[in-house]
Amino acid sequence: MALIVQKFGGTSVADLERIRHAADKAIAARDAGHQVVVVLSAMSGETNRLLAMGQQMAAQPDSREMDQLAATGEQVTIALMAIHLNGRGYPAVSLQGWQVPIATNAVHGKARIEQIDSEHLHRLLNDGRIVVVAGFQGVSSEGNITTLGRGGSDTTAVALAAALNADECQIFTDVDGVYTTDPRMVPEAHRLDSITFKEMLELASQGSKVLQTRSVEFAGKYRVPLRVLSTFVDGPGTLISVEQGMEAPLVSGVACSRQEAWITVAHMPDTPFSASRVFGTLARAHIEVDMITQTPNAHQRTDFSFSVSRTDVTQAISVLAGALPELPAEAISVNNDVAKVSVIGVALRSHPELVMKLFDALAAEQIRLLAITTSESRISVLVPDTETERSVRTLHRAFGLSVAVKAE
Ligand code: ADP
Ligand code: ASP
Ligand code: MG
Repeated sequence: MALIVQKFGGTSVADLERIRHAADKAIAARDAGHQVVVVLSAMSGETNRLLAMGQQMAAQPDSREMDQLAATGEQVTIALMAIHLNGRGYPAVSLQGWQVPIATNAVHGKARIEQIDSEHLHRLLNDGRIVVVAGFQGVSSEGNITTLGRGGSDTTAVALAAALNADECQIFTDVDGVYTTDPRMVPEAHRLDSITFKEMLELASQGSKVLQTRSVEFAGKYRVPLRVLSTFVDGPGTLISVEQGMEAPLVSGVACSRQEAWITVAHMPDTPFSASRVFGTLARAHIEVDMITQTPNAHQRTDFSFSVSRTDVTQAISVLAGALPELPAEAISVNNDVAKVSVIGVALRSHPELVMKLFDALAAEQIRLLAITTSESRISVLVPDTETERSVRTLHRAFGLSVAVKAE
C-alpha cells in the first residue's frame, strides 16, 4: 500500500463530467490498494472570474478580502468531487486549507506554507477515506484565509506529499508531461521522460507555467517524487528527479516570460556610487531586479536599464521618481513590451560555444536583444515582446530540441 497525492488542475475539473473523470483516477488508485489524497484547483477560468469581480468593487481591493473571494473557487470543486466519490461508494471527505490545517504566513495573495498538520489527514486516510483538499489556500495565524499565488495548487499538492511522506505526487494537467518548451507555442516540442529538480526549477521560474515554481522548490527540498501526467491521455508523463541521465543533453528546454518590464534611469553622474543608489532604492522597497545593463554616455554620464516583474513596475517607478533628486537622474522611462526568453540546461557556462550558437541563431533571424544574462544553468535574453514566439522557436531549433511534427 502506497500513499499517493493526485492533483488536478483547472482544465481537469472544468465541468461535472471532468470532475467525474478525475474521480476515476482517484478510484483506480484506491482500488489498487493505495491511500489517496486529491488536491483540486478551481474550475478553469473561475479564479480569473472571481478576481476580476473583486477588482470591480474597489480601486484598490483589500488583499484579505480578495483571498477570501479567490479561495471559494476550490471550495466548489472539492465538494463536488467528494459528493461524487461518496455517491459511488468510495468514502471521501473534502477539506479547505483551514480544515487541514495548512498554516501559512499572512502575506495575502502570495502566502508561503509554514506548516501542515498531517495527523488529521492520516486519521482520515487510515479510516479508509479519500481526502479531497482545496489547492491554492491556507490559513494565517490570525485565522484568515490566504492564497499561495497563481498556480498555487501545485504547491499545495507537493507540500501535502512532503508532510505525509507520500510515495508519489502526481500532477495531472492538460499536457502529457513536461516538454522542451510550451507545446502550445512550439508544435515541434517534445516530452521529456525525466528532468532534474534543478532544471525544472529554472524552467518554472523562467515562465513555464506547467508547475508553480514554489512547488518545484518544495519537491527538491523534501525530495518528493513528482510526476507530471495528462488527465486525458494515459502515459508515463515526466518524472522530476534528482538524477541526471548519463546521456542527458546539455540544453533541456526553452522558457519564456511575458511578465517583464524594462526600466531606464537616464543621465546619472558616472560615479562608483550610482549603481548602489538606484538598486538600493529598489531593494528597500523589496523590488526584485533581474537583468541589468549600464550604458555610459557623454560628459561623465551614465544610464542604467534593468528588468523587473510587470507587477512591480508601478511601485518601482514611484520609488525611483521619489528618489530622483538624490540619485540624481534626469529621467525614468519604462518599456512594457519586452519578454524574456531563456535556454535552460546544465553546466552552460563551461560551454562558451552555446552562447555563440544563441547569438548566431537570433542574429540570423534579425532579432534585436535588449539584455543578456548567463549562469551555470541558463542563458536569458530580453527581446521585444513581438519577437517572443519567433525567439523561442528559433532557439528551440538551434539547440536541437525540435522533432519533426507528424502530419495528421
Ligand atoms: P493546470 O490548470 O493543470 O494547473 P496549467 O495551465 O497551469 O495547468 O499548466 C499547463 C500548461 O503549461 C500547458 O497547457 C502548457 O501550455 C503550459 N506549458 C508551458 N511550458 C510548458 C512545458 N515546458 N511543458 C509542458 N507544458 C508547458
Ligand atoms: N485556481 C488557482 C489559480 O487559478 C490555483 C491553481 O489553479 O493552481 O491560480
Ligand atoms: Mg497550473
